[in-house]
Amino acid sequence: MPSEAELRQEMVEIMVALEARGLNRGTSGNLAVRMGADMLVTPSGVTPARLSAGQMVRVRPDGTTDPGALKPSSEWRMHRGLLDRRPEANAVVHCHSRHATILACAGKEIPPLHYMVAVGGGASIPLAPYATFGSEELAEAVATALDGRSAALMANHGQVVVARSLRAALAIAEEVEEQAAVYWGTLAIGGPTLLDAAEMDRILERFGTYGQKR
Ligand SMILES: [Zn+2]
Repeated sequence: MPSEAELRQEMVEIMVALEARGLNRGTSGNLAVRMGADMLVTPSGVTPARLSAGQMVRVRPDGTTDPGALKPSSEWRMHRGLLDRRPEANAVVHCHSRHATILACAGKEIPPLHYMVAVGGGASIPLAPYATFGSEELAEAVATALDGRSAALMANHGQVVVARSLRAALAIAEEVEEQAAVYWGTLAIGGPTLLDAAEMDRILERFGTYGQKR
């Protein structure tokens, strides 16, 4: 188990990586990682370039934080809801990557157009219905869309990933953005040719071990 100090440092690195890989801009993305019954959440309104490990906010299950802590990301309820519902997952990555957000604003999920869509844990990457950012309704909508999955788009908002670690979640978020970009591109030239359900089942079966080989 990584120490709290290691997790805090990793959160800084993942926020910097999200921006460096073009998955996020400014202060919009946020992360959470499980710390026993509590979680560490990125602070609200700090750009990756100015983030430090000590600024990560420890949020208790009732939503309270340590005295003197920065305000946690407005999406802390969504992070809490996902970590509560997914005991096997330890990390949540949320970002407004461009192509995922384009699809989310057009009300489109990502259909089975490429085998890597299975990185989200299903035959498609679903779209959670819209609710106001930071709200309990959004936390609920996202948790429902992510049932049994690793990734979802969020209507008129962005994308969210749950995974065993922050690094795994970052890798999935990057692939979701790639698949969103590919789907967006196919929509400009007549739309994708989709893989059928039986093929997606075979792919998902192989993905049972896929991640461990990388
Ligand atoms: Zn957001």
